[in-house]
Amino acid sequence: MSQVLVLVDHVDGSVRKTTTELLTIAARLGEPAAVFIGNGFDNAAATLAEFGATTAYKVEGEGLEDYLVQPKAEALAAVVAQASPAAVLIPSSVEGKEIAGRLAVKIGAGVITDAVDVQAGDGGAVATQSVFAGGFTVRSRVTKGVPIITVKPNSAAPEAVAGAPAAPEVVTVPVTASDLTKAAKIVERRPKEKSGRPDLSEAAIVVSGGRGTNGDFAPVEALADALGAAVGASRAAVDAGWYPHSNQVGQTGKQVSPQLYVAAGISGAIQHRAGMQTSKTIVAINKDPEAPIFELADFGVVGDLFTVLPQATEAVLKRKG
Ligand SMILES: Cc1cc2nc3c(=O)[nH]c(=O)nc-3n(C[C@H](O)[C@H](O)[C@H](O)COP(=O)(O)OP(=O)(O)OC[C@H]3O[C@@H](n4cnc5c(N)ncnc54)[C@H](O)[C@@H]3O)c2cc1C
Repeated sequence: MSQVLVLVDHVDGSVRKTTTELLTIAARLGEPAAVFIGNGFDNAAATLAEFGATTAYKVEGEGLEDYLVQPKAEALAAVVAQASPAAVLIPSSVEGKEIAGRLAVKIGAGVITDAVDVQAGDGGAVATQSVFAGGFTVRSRVTKGVPIITVKPNSAAPEAVAGAPAAPEVVTVPVTASDLTKAAKIVERRPKEKSGRPDLSEAAIVVSGGRGTNGDFAPVEALADALGAAVGASRAAVDAGWYPHSNQVGQTGKQVSPQLYVAAGISGAIQHRAGMQTSKTIVAINKDPEAPIFELADFGVVGDLFTVLPQATEAVLKRKG
């Protein structure tokens, strides 16, 4: 059975959930194998094995962390040449998609981005995408070279493999970053201030506020905290300076696909839908019964968010005891 490579998304070896999701998807297509670039492999090994990676390609080289995405694309190309995999799966982040595009050019292969599902099919992996602001569902397959597919967070539930070994078999891949990769160097890294809330792209629940909040996100944040959710915002709210751009959901913001998406005071413009339409359950709170958001909501409350959200928060807290 051919290997399916998964590019590990991690911070100093602390493996993000997107990676365990991809390992679970990889097991449908072949034998999952992790590609680890950067520091902290020892912290990551057990998790990679637990979620099915039988092999880990540990990329080693001078300065891989000091440059932008190009060294990662070069490293992946080196691993692809060594492993001849059936497919390469990469998290659908901004960085992941850039790596995927560069890798595709390097190895002369086709690339599919923003998949929300990947299954084995006749002739190779079949990816499902939600396109045109979620208006169409498309299933497609790469027809040239090793399929490279970027997969959105929350596209699969990570499944630990019973009886998995404590660590994967490690294959060290030495890589020398080319001069091309050195054209832009990272000169400083600053950790993002922690909000104590989950990462927006990965969160199982997102509570978002729009122009209807009139700049007061307190009830949105209170419900998010009661649910252990991330906070999102529409572009109108971000453009007004009420919430940071890093929290914007939509075509020009983050694309999220949580189990539950709560939209409060958001009209449901097509550009906002583009970032949240693949959420499993959508709840809308809007005082206008004609608001387009109700067209795609599974549950809708016509009402003032300043009345509805505190009641919802209270009910959630009461249930939690
Ligand atoms: C190229 C391009 C890219 C874009 N990218 C994005 C993007 O990434 N993300 C994004 O969100 N938008 C994006 N937009 C903007 C988008 O078109 C909309 O303008 C935006 O989504 C509107 O935000 P909103 O729903 O918060 O505001 P509005 O459309 O003004 O809606 C506010 C809603 O709140 C309701 N409301 C008001 N007060 C209350 C209350 N007290 N209680 C309950 N409901 C209330 C109103 O009935 C209304 O439905 C983009 C636009 C363009 C042209």
